[in-house]
Amino acid sequence: MIIGSHVGLKAPDFLVGSVNEALSYNANALMLYTGAPQNTLRKPISQLKVSEARELIKKHELTLVVHAPYILNLASPDEEKRLFSINFLKQEIKRVEEIGSNILVLHPGNFMTNTLEEGLNLIVDSLNKVGSSNVRIALETMSGKGSECCFKFEQLKYIIDNVNYPLYVCFDTCHTFDAGYDLVNDYDNVFKSFDEIIGLDKIICFHINDSKNVLASHKDRHENIGKGNIGFNTLKKVVHDPRFINIPKILETPYIDGVAPYKEEIELLIKG
Ligand code: FE
Ligand code: FE
Ligand code: ZN
Repeated sequence: MIIGSHVGLKAPDFLVGSVNEALSYNANALMLYTGAPQNTLRKPISQLKVSEARELIKKHELTLVVHAPYILNLASPDEEKRLFSINFLKQEIKRVEEIGSNILVLHPGNFMTNTLEEGLNLIVDSLNKVGSSNVRIALETMSGKGSECCFKFEQLKYIIDNVNYPLYVCFDTCHTFDAGYDLVNDYDNVFKSFDEIIGLDKIICFHINDSKNVLASHKDRHENIGKGNIGFNTLKKVVHDPRFINIPKILETPYIDGVAPYKEEIELLIKG
């Protein structure tokens, strides 16, 4: 099983610190942002202790996932912001390669003042401008909060079908549940429908989160494993599903009283 969590990236140890944080959770996977998730300021890769970190990653056979900053918006109706996001993403892909990852999780975009359909078309156009690389872009399943695109499998399929290189999916349990997919009472059909529409082989990452809100709430507020409306049994089912055993699973659950819950939550999920 490949399982880990979101980890930090901070001075003075940077990537080495991120890897050590993951190891302290007994994780064999980790996900990080190459800088603050809510802004696009990035340090040169040369300052992030990459070679030391890559050795540790190799030694401990870790899977490294990168998450693009969530303020990028490939669907922005504002052309300048869209171009900025495209260019940032091109740079980000280079950073992802340099730090030794080949999975980049991306929130597809927000349609804002446009229609959903216009938003989807702008995402297609933007991703075609970003272009293909060795880094696999995993479009995240979204909750449909505000004007988020891709809260339905069909919307992800539309993008995948219309971009001229292969795209993949990051399946977030909290987001899909909040979007209205009943993982709790209709587990088999949710994945059957994903398989029919997109194909299960497109999933290259899971985000394993419980949800503070109810089915179809379109809220996107993560809860600790077993403390929310999805519950432990369903999350355990995803984590232990033999079809997904080799797919990295990343926890993005909230800290409890300022303390990361990941070591305990990972242990709980592995034990099943
Ligand atoms: Fe995300
Ligand atoms: Fe997520
Ligand atoms: Zn989320």
